[in-house]
Amino acid sequence: MFASGKICRPRRCLFYIIVFLICQLILVLQFIVYKRNNDITASKFSSQPLHHSNDSGIHFLDWREFISHTPPRSEDYYQYNLHLSDTLGVIRNLPSTRHYGCMTRPFKLPPPLASKVSVVISFHNEARSMLLRTVVSLLRRTPEEYLHELILVDDGSQDVTLLDDLMRWMDGFLAARRDRLGLIFRRNQKRMGLISSRNRGASLASGNYVLFLDSHCEVNEEWLEPLLERLALDPHLAVSPLLDPIDPTTLSYRKGNEMLKGGFDWSLHFHWLKRQLAIKELPEMAYKSPAFAGGVLMMSRDWFLMLGSFNSYLKIWGGESIELAIKLWLCGGQIEIVPCSRIGHIFRRRHAFDFPPQSDQDQQLSPAQETYLHNSKIIAESWLDEYKNMFYALRPVARRIPLDHTYDEMQKLRRERQCHPFEWYLRHVNPELRLHFDELSATGTLRNEDRCLHARQKNSQLILASCYLSDITQWSMLRSSGQLSTQRELCLGVGLRMRITLQPCGRNETTRKSQRWLRLGTHLLHAETHLCLDNPLKDRLEMSTCRSHAVSQSFQFALEMEAQT
Ligand code: UDP
Ligand code: MN
Repeated sequence: MFASGKICRPRRCLFYIIVFLICQLILVLQFIVYKRNNDITASKFSSQPLHHSNDSGIHFLDWREFISHTPPRSEDYYQYNLHLSDTLGVIRNLPSTRHYGCMTRPFKLPPPLASKVSVVISFHNEARSMLLRTVVSLLRRTPEEYLHELILVDDGSQDVTLLDDLMRWMDGFLAARRDRLGLIFRRNQKRMGLISSRNRGASLASGNYVLFLDSHCEVNEEWLEPLLERLALDPHLAVSPLLDPIDPTTLSYRKGNEMLKGGFDWSLHFHWLKRQLAIKELPEMAYKSPAFAGGVLMMSRDWFLMLGSFNSYLKIWGGESIELAIKLWLCGGQIEIVPCSRIGHIFRRRHAFDFPPQSDQDQQLSPAQETYLHNSKIIAESWLDEYKNMFYALRPVARRIPLDHTYDEMQKLRRERQCHPFEWYLRHVNPELRLHFDELSATGTLRNEDRCLHARQKNSQLILASCYLSDITQWSMLRSSGQLSTQRELCLGVGLRMRITLQPCGRNETTRKSQRWLRLGTHLLHAETHLCLDNPLKDRLEMSTCRSHAVSQSFQFALEMEAQT
């Protein structure tokens, strides 16, 4: 067939050859462009010196090599896009997210010798590329004269060679300034949790200030200077940078909100609070905050140690920065958020780590819930004074969590440092929390005999359930409107044919009227119908004529505010 010349006539052959050559050329060109791009990333990286230092010998391949040993894991394991993180490079340009006003004024910096900063990063199962970006952004964007040391605590990560590999990589990377920057690497053979790992890091620190940073951050330009300026004014101040969110899926870097303060609710869960600008206050100015904006914070090392570090009775993760915030404020310190200082942080949607089961694990609680309740209970018992009842009212199951120590140490600190009572914090620092307390006339679980009124999460159906369900409904009786609300702001009401309803809490007069309740001893009397909430049979709830001694009509709140104050 070939010989017949029918398949490849000279002209057609020539055409095929040309097409083939063009394809080859395109491939070669693509390869050149790809190579060039990568070289640019690498050379951009190696040609730009570290802050004031001339750092040579950084190769594209070096960090590629380092991250190539990342153990294969699913994205679920990290809770962010690992593939993207691996392809982003060790440093990237970040958008400038801070206010224009931050860029147009010089910061008043303290003398470097008295303002050395020790950075403590504790990490557990962090992807190599992510950890490296955290460290490199820090080394690249921090003035060398202030960066005293970097303390990395590997909290029992499964990637067992990570720390050694990182040590080696950093030695090459920092060749020129190795004698000026302290590097401390520690590994907890057994996982200890964030709290004791951070304490371990801080106990090794020798700088004037200690900064706690997560292992999935990217510091932005000039992040340190605004913090140093504030800290130099008051040795008892602690500061948070403004955290810019990095999206866990796209890793895009966005602008954080400078109109929010850190706070918490009576369950001791972190919450953002609205910041109100005073007259003449500019949004970029540092502002007081009742709690830190997350776990990134900086303060004097001595002051941190004097306050007893992070409370070492707290386990694994959770509550530590709320506890530090309360004790700081009560014992003579202050907290500020500094919007001219920006640090990117990946806010993960779920925990990327497990909580180890407790030795006496409560079967109804997950290890994460039990750890959180354990830590919160310690905070409530050590700092909240009589207001701890509010915490227990909302988290009754916390009463059952065993604690293996007394609170003597904390009482000693409170006495020695003449710390204020918690009431002072509510009055002067966190009036929002106080307001929430004052708005209520009663709160917590609503008990009828040995069961509690519960609104099912999925369909809002009202039932009577065990008071020790971990998500048992917490009711709030609002003092002014008489509404009886769940945490999801659904209010108990009475509708057509005396049916008991659970609907969004109404703001207008008509709905409010149908959702208004009066207290008659332990009876709940519906204002519009003059009928009482009743549980005549095991699983029935209905409205019926009030009978003063009827046990089926007696509903007791876990906490009565009137009796409290
Ligand atoms: N971490 C740790 N040990 C643990 C749990 C967490 O060292 O047992 C580290 C984690 O790698 C991260 C920091 O503690 O650097 C804060 O944890 P995470 O980012 O999960 O907390 P979040 O930012 O969600 O508050
Ligand atoms: Mn984090």
